[in-house]
Formats: sequence, C-alpha cells, structure tokens
Amino acid sequence: MHDTLFLFGATGDLAQRYLFPSLLRLLGDGLLPEDFRVRALALSPHDTEKFRDILRPRLEAAMPHASQEDIGNLLSRIDYRSVDLRNAESVAESVKNLVHRTCVSYLAIPPGLYISTCEGLALGGALAAPHRLMLEKPIGSDSDSAEEILQSIGKWIDEDRVFRLDHYLGKAAVQNLMALRFGNTLLEAVWNRNYIASVHILVAESDGVDGRDSYYSRSGALRDMVQSHILQLLCLVAMEPPASLEADRIRDEKVKVLRALRPLDAKHAAKDSVRGRYTAGTINGQPAQAYQPPEGSEAETFVGVTAHIDNWRWAGVPFHLVTGKRLPERTTRIEVNLKPVTHWLFERPDRKSATPNRLTFQLQPQENIQLGLMSSLAGPEWGALELQPLELELSVPTGLHRRIAYERLFLDAFNGNHALFVRDDEVRAAWAWIDSISDAWKAADLPMEPYPAGGWGPQLAHDFLPESIAADAGPEQGL
Ligand code: NAP
Repeated sequence: MHDTLFLFGATGDLAQRYLFPSLLRLLGDGLLPEDFRVRALALSPHDTEKFRDILRPRLEAAMPHASQEDIGNLLSRIDYRSVDLRNAESVAESVKNLVHRTCVSYLAIPPGLYISTCEGLALGGALAAPHRLMLEKPIGSDSDSAEEILQSIGKWIDEDRVFRLDHYLGKAAVQNLMALRFGNTLLEAVWNRNYIASVHILVAESDGVDGRDSYYSRSGALRDMVQSHILQLLCLVAMEPPASLEADRIRDEKVKVLRALRPLDAKHAAKDSVRGRYTAGTINGQPAQAYQPPEGSEAETFVGVTAHIDNWRWAGVPFHLVTGKRLPERTTRIEVNLKPVTHWLFERPDRKSATPNRLTFQLQPQENIQLGLMSSLAGPEWGALELQPLELELSVPTGLHRRIAYERLFLDAFNGNHALFVRDDEVRAAWAWIDSISDAWKAADLPMEPYPAGGWGPQLAHDFLPESIAADAGPEQGL
C-alpha cells in the first residue's frame, strides 16, 4: 500500500472537514501502513507546529469519540509546507525529499491550479510510477477546460494511476444501488421501458450558496451538481449490468449511458428544462436572504432537466433530474415510477385514481427504500375487492458501521482500486451533455425563474419533481 500522502489544499474546507477526519478513522482502525505520513501543503505561511495547532481542535470537533492518543498519532505523522501552487518549481521543491517513498498526491484545491501543480509534481518526480494522483471534482468547468486539464495531466501520468473523485460514489447508500439492481431478479426483470414510465432523481439542499460565492457565481447548480453527483446516480440507475465488478467493466457501462444522452437543443429547452434562483424566504422558520450573484453571473441555484437516454433499454422513458439550493429539506432520492397495469379489474379505486407501483430509494439523510403497491385493505362493509395504496418500507438498519465516503475512497486509491473513481472518458461525455444544456439555454434565452428560499423551486419545476414531493408542494410552498 502507498505510504505517503501529499495533501494539497490542507488548510481548506474539504481537507479540514472531511479528509483529515477520514485519515484519523483509518489510522485508528489500523488500515494505514505502519510508517504512513502526510505532507500537508497550502498557501498560508504556517509552520508544522502552527498547522497541527489549527488542525487539532478541528479533528476533536469532527470526531468527538476519537481518543487523544489517536489524534496525537495522526498529528505526529503530518508536516506542513507553505507553497504557491502557481509556481511549478516551488511545487517540485516541496515534495522532493519524500519522492523516494510511494506517494499519493491529493489535489483538494481549485481546479484552476491543477495544471501548474501537476507540472510541479512531474518536475519533482512525484507523478512517475508507482506514484498516484487523486483529483477532486470538478475537472474543469466545461468541455474545453476539462480537455485542457485531461490532456496536460495525461502527459505526466498514466490513466491507471489517476483517481478522480466524485465523493457520491464513495457513499455506501450509492453503492447499494448496484447491489439492489444486480442482486435482485425482482428488480432486474422490470428494469426497462416496458415497465418503467419515468425516473426522478432529486438532490435537494437546504443550505444556500453562503461562503462559496466566488466558486458558485462561475459554476451554478448545473455545473456543480448535475455534471457530477446527479449524472453519476443516473449512470448507476440506467447502466447495463457489467460483466464483472472489475473497475473498467463498470466504467465502460457508465460511459455508454452518458454517450446515449440526447443533447438538449434550443427547441426543447423550455419543455425539457427549467432554471431558477432563490429569492428571500424562510427555511425552518428562519429568514433566508436572496442569492444575488455578481453582475454578469448567470449562476442558477435550481435546475430541472429531463434526460432522454437514446438506447434500447430506455427509449421513451424520461429521467427527470432536479437539484436546488435553499429547498425545504436536504434529501437525495431516486423515484422509479412503474407503468399502470395493462387491464384494471377493480371498481374502487377506479383505474384513473389507482396509484401505479413506485420504488423510491432515499439515499440521504437516512437510507431507506420504499415500494408502493396496491393492496386489498377493504373492510367487511363493502363486497368487492377494494384496493388501497400500501407502502412497504425497507429501512436500512441504523447503527451499521459504514465508512464515510472519503474513508472508502482513500482506501481504494491507496490499494489501487478504480471502481469508484471517474475515468477520463466519463468526464468528457458528462461535460458534452452539460454543455449542450447551457448552449440551449443561451440560444433559447431561457428565463431565470425566481423561487422563494424554503420552497420546492419555481412553479415551472412541478413536473420535474418526484411525485411524492410534487404532491405535497403547492404554490404556497414556492411552486
Ligand atoms: P477552499 O476551502 O477554498 O480551500 C482551497 C485550498 O487551496 C486552501 O487550502 C488554500 O490554501 C489552497 N490554495 C488556494 N490557492 C493556492 C495557491 N496559489 N497555492 C497553494 N495553495 C492554494 O476549497 P475547498 O472547499 O476545500 O475545495 C477544494 C477543492 O475540492 C475544490 O476543487 C472543490 O471544488 C472540491 N470539493 C470541495 C468540497 C467541499 O465540501 N468543500 C466537496 C467536493 C469537492 P490557503 O488556505 O492557505 O490559502
């Protein structure tokens, strides 16, 4: 296993909130090499002692059950270097005395610094075999910038030593989607256009843009969330069964889904998409301010888009993808609506008001699976069979010891397993579809729809939302 981590962006939000706490857990569980060490790197002019002093309370807050011994053990393995990543020679210098070990460089920094940082790592010998590279999402901000990053980095390191993260793939609940799909005949038998009417994928956040204004004003919800997490979920729902669990067999199937996505064009922009931005409102009884991006920014905080997958399995089945900020709750769910039965035998309810079967995977905040069936629950006063909707709940037991996403992803990268990482062709195919949407919005001059913070998005979003949510959300809730 690789024994040295160069953690670039060590003072940043991601590193302090998730990466160091994950390393603490792995170390405490004895899953890292005996002589594991971390070189923390960022711009701030700290020395190692100062950095450890800053990190200690963050670890204590993030991992209240961790022992002081474990925290001390991790801190003693970390040293800190200040480096300006815009300068490749300084980067090379900052890693030089450790490249005789087997190193993984983790770039938790703005993607605009990826190329100069990798140039420096290559110069310092840290991208030669057997060293590895972990890259945070997003890879660029559109097809052109992604291509530049992929090509530049490709000059210095082979694809089989690059690990591109989308931390959603590290979540146990997301991996469970594959287990459920491919471990159950019941699901696989109906998983196609003959039985499925529509699929809704929702990633809702109650948080606002707060604190990420500069990144968000250039990105917006489409490039921040749809390009990454939502398309990864779409792939897991829609892909063909891979021939094996080997990383490239899974990634081959995912990339086929992305390539089958029909580009959005201006003619269909208004029918197949909606974009919005939150205005002032109320969340959980607390007032929330409007999002006002800087002059000239087109950043949306809400997107609804219908994806059409042009292949044999999914022809004619709409996949409604929705994400938004300042929505009433934080939830990620996938709702699969089955077609109504072909011939309706029952008087009550009549065919029109009968609810077709529905399968809901809730991934966040709790993991939960619901199967909506029609069942006879009639009382004795009525003679014929009367059907009513019945929800079967398959709650995943709480208290399971599951690793948080970054623990799992660190372990896999250290062990060289690529299955939960994004391959270069996936990045290209995802951006190609996302670019078609923003081009269509521009060409059609699609309006930015306002919605109040605390509502379920703009009025026009109704048809994109999962039916379980759209049914509860009325105009008074922002729709
Ligand atoms: P952040 O809080 O803004 O941290 C940025 C880090 O980059 C800091 O450590 C900063 O160092 C360092 N940095 C910036 N310019 C530098 C330079 N010229 N030379 C050396 N270091 C420099 O960002 P973040 O939220 O941690 O996100 C980091 C990356 O992860 C981004 O690509 C983001 O999209 C991705 N990501 C973040 C999250 C999350 O939850 N935060 C989730 C998924 C993906 P100083 O502090 O010393 O200036």
